[in-house]
Amino acid sequence: MTDIAHLPFTQRFVHELPADPKTDNSLRQVLRACYSHVQPTHVARPELLVLVPEVAALIGLDPEPTKELVEVLAGNRIVDGMAPYAACYGGHQFGTWAGQLGDGRAITIAEVTAPSDGDIWELQLKGAGPTPYSRRADGRAVLRSSLRELVCSEAMFHLGVPTTRALSLVLTGEPVQRDFLYDGHPKLEPGAVVCRVAPSFLRFGSYEIHSAREDQETLEKLVRFTLAKYYPQHIANGQMDIAGWFDEVMRKTAFMVSEWMRVGFVHGVMNTDNMSILGLTIDYGPYGWIESFDLDWTPNITDASGRRYRFGAQPQVAQWNLAQLARALSWLVEDLDPLRATIDAYAREFSSLYRHTMLRKLGLVAHAQHATGDDDLLTDLGALLVEIETDMTLFFRYLAEPNPSLVTLHDAYYAPDQITAVQRAQIERWLMAYAHRVRVEGISEEERRTRMDSINPLYVPRNYLVQEVIEATEAGDRTQLLELLDVLRRPYTQQPGKERFAKKRPDWARHKPGCSMLSCSS
Ligand code: AMP
Ligand code: MG
Repeated sequence: MTDIAHLPFTQRFVHELPADPKTDNSLRQVLRACYSHVQPTHVARPELLVLVPEVAALIGLDPEPTKELVEVLAGNRIVDGMAPYAACYGGHQFGTWAGQLGDGRAITIAEVTAPSDGDIWELQLKGAGPTPYSRRADGRAVLRSSLRELVCSEAMFHLGVPTTRALSLVLTGEPVQRDFLYDGHPKLEPGAVVCRVAPSFLRFGSYEIHSAREDQETLEKLVRFTLAKYYPQHIANGQMDIAGWFDEVMRKTAFMVSEWMRVGFVHGVMNTDNMSILGLTIDYGPYGWIESFDLDWTPNITDASGRRYRFGAQPQVAQWNLAQLARALSWLVEDLDPLRATIDAYAREFSSLYRHTMLRKLGLVAHAQHATGDDDLLTDLGALLVEIETDMTLFFRYLAEPNPSLVTLHDAYYAPDQITAVQRAQIERWLMAYAHRVRVEGISEEERRTRMDSINPLYVPRNYLVQEVIEATEAGDRTQLLELLDVLRRPYTQQPGKERFAKKRPDWARHKPGCSMLSCSS
């Protein structure tokens, strides 16, 4: 473990990829380059709210919160060996090509080699001030959105979902103006900086931008870099296997989305600039967690009319996004057919992953050959969950109890008294079919419970829980934040005294901004 000034920094991105020759922060189109050199902007009074010890350990950083470390995490200090930059990328936003976007408020300050295994991690400050990509915005982030990013990315990690991590949350001591609901009521809010950590923050849009500009040379350099660093199995003697690589990106993406569906995560803004080339969940914005199982739900009010990024649409959107990536990569291949085949294969890949996941959620294993009974079981369950307002998280935990019945499941329903006789009969019929399937599987009730409780979380960062923590933290009490982070470290294990974190959404939170309604204003 070492202090921040003595970490083994490396600068692969900066050294090996083409840079924007200009180094000021003027807004501009950055051509023929993958990044711009930038400096974070100084903030008034940095105050450390959270330093995540396990992420510090990951990069070999001593978790002692020294003044120097806090200054670095706030963007006030750059130590020798760091080479801060903002990446250039574009993206399709809500289905339309948006041109150059880029890191408008995120600044990668360093790449660090982990002492334990030699893995290389990028440290990126989000909210660290303007860059050439800030367009009309201020380069800052507010406490509520930074806190949401830190809590959720760490929760996802402990849930076992591929994700970027978060090392720290620092208050800047400077207010930031935001119009949260975009309804003409701007407010001053506390500013904050999150330090995100990932092997890479490259996105689909990082490749699309060069393709859109017909800049094959820069595109090829970036792809070469990506393969050499993150997908070495797809490059040999300088020969790139683009189709094989794209196929692997497809599989990673399908897996990530099936994991979102497993835990009830709705990303909220699946634009191609928010799709990681490593299949990690990135850019936590107006995301939300499924409370009542509703395939049509989206937390993002900016998307309320089209619901493009609703819970149930995520798998298809990922495929659409992959097709945009394929289009960008098509510059580098002679034969488009393998790319097309991969896009087609996505549907099969996702269905098979999802089916397997759902069966595992029920404590069953998926048989290699199609068992028709299983498909009926899953379809009937899906219909029941949609028809009767059911808390997704609690349902799978209660179902794991021995010999589940309507009584066992009672508290998973939002309005148990309104379940009709017909619906009760449907639930009972389904439970009988399920019990029969469990008998065929030949597992004990104890074994079923062990299996189910290891894949169905009890604690997820429910929208209203995070909102309560935001309000407490804004009021100066950070104990609630630390407590929530701690509970979310063991999402599958029942924790005595932490019952309040595993409760259905209370009625007051049903339509409250921040709980069920979020925007991109962050
Ligand atoms: P997002 O919706 O957060 O993924 O952001 C889309 C684009 O807008 C990215 O290029 C961001 O860097 C940029 N952006 C978002 N918020 C800000 C901000 N406050 N200042 C500068 N750029 C921003
Ligand atoms: Mg983004």
